[in-house]
Amino acid sequence: MVRKVPTVFGSVFHKDMPVLAFENGAWQDIRWQSSEAFQLSPGAHSLHYGSECFEGLKAFRQNDDSIVLFRPDANITRMQQSARLLSLPVPDTDAFHRALFELVARAADEIPEAPASLYLRPTLIGTDPVIGKAGVGSDNAMLYILASPVGDYFKPGAPMKLLVETEHMRCAPHMGRVKCGGNYASALPWTVKARKDYGAHQVLFCPNGDVQETGASNFALINGNEIITKPLTDEFLHGVTRDSMLKIAADMGYQISERNFTVDELRAAIENGAEAILTGTAAVISPVTAFVIDGQEIEVQSQEKGYAIRKAITDIQYGLAEDRYGWLVKIDV
Ligand SMILES: *Cc1c(COP(=O)(O)O)cnc(C)c1O
Repeated sequence: MVRKVPTVFGSVFHKDMPVLAFENGAWQDIRWQSSEAFQLSPGAHSLHYGSECFEGLKAFRQNDDSIVLFRPDANITRMQQSARLLSLPVPDTDAFHRALFELVARAADEIPEAPASLYLRPTLIGTDPVIGKAGVGSDNAMLYILASPVGDYFKPGAPMKLLVETEHMRCAPHMGRVKCGGNYASALPWTVKARKDYGAHQVLFCPNGDVQETGASNFALINGNEIITKPLTDEFLHGVTRDSMLKIAADMGYQISERNFTVDELRAAIENGAEAILTGTAAVISPVTAFVIDGQEIEVQSQEKGYAIRKAITDIQYGLAEDRYGWLVKIDV
């Protein structure tokens, strides 16, 4: 059976979604409702004061047709952390888990074969219908999960040009590890400008020369046998793919260096033949093909190691290689 993969990433949703409401000081039972539309007060806290965060994870149809989720507990934990930092009610682990697993089971027939997958988008929003609450968190909230069959976000083999931005930050430094729409809004002016002025696909944020991450994915340099990426700080998003990549790469024999590095070091390494990759659930592992640094374009000479690491991770996801790390959680359908 060949399942359809929508041409636009994230444009088609499974018809229903689980909704978990936090009302009267407690999480309510899971409600199933249409994903086409829902009712929300125009005064809702999230619409005015940005009390919104989200997650992104994938379910895969494996080689033997079984359905698995990739490291779902990491995403649940991360959303709980985002909720805390946005003063939102923290979703209950068990209820979140149940909603996610039941959604994947219900949408199982729509999960396409490799290299496509089912992208899941848990979204937590503050719902207090009071525009006077600018200085306080939302007491009421709603967590819903969209399920969307997707192909590649970045096509393998396509150019990936990064504009190196040393002047502006992606977001406020204390908010970097929160997966929230506000941070995306904050990065948007530079991303739009980079596309317009340089034809760049993404912006690599390096405030004062400190190499951090792009607007929506983590970044790593592959210099010979060394993989260099920024150590975990509050300034950037702690990707599940970043963590998975580092473990797999270590087992492939790479030396892992989680340390700060500068644009000067990046530039010298690339000019000497180093590779670079983006990592993220949507991006998977996307090798970089060019950088724009100080207005000058620098080609990346090879993408070979990046694609080999990508294959190591996708082989586990699609059941073509043994899951030695215990990352896959099977869904009963
Ligand atoms: C989601 C996200 C990532 C990647 O995280 P994964 O858990 O690997 O999907 C990286 N950077 C930003 C800003 C993100 O929002």
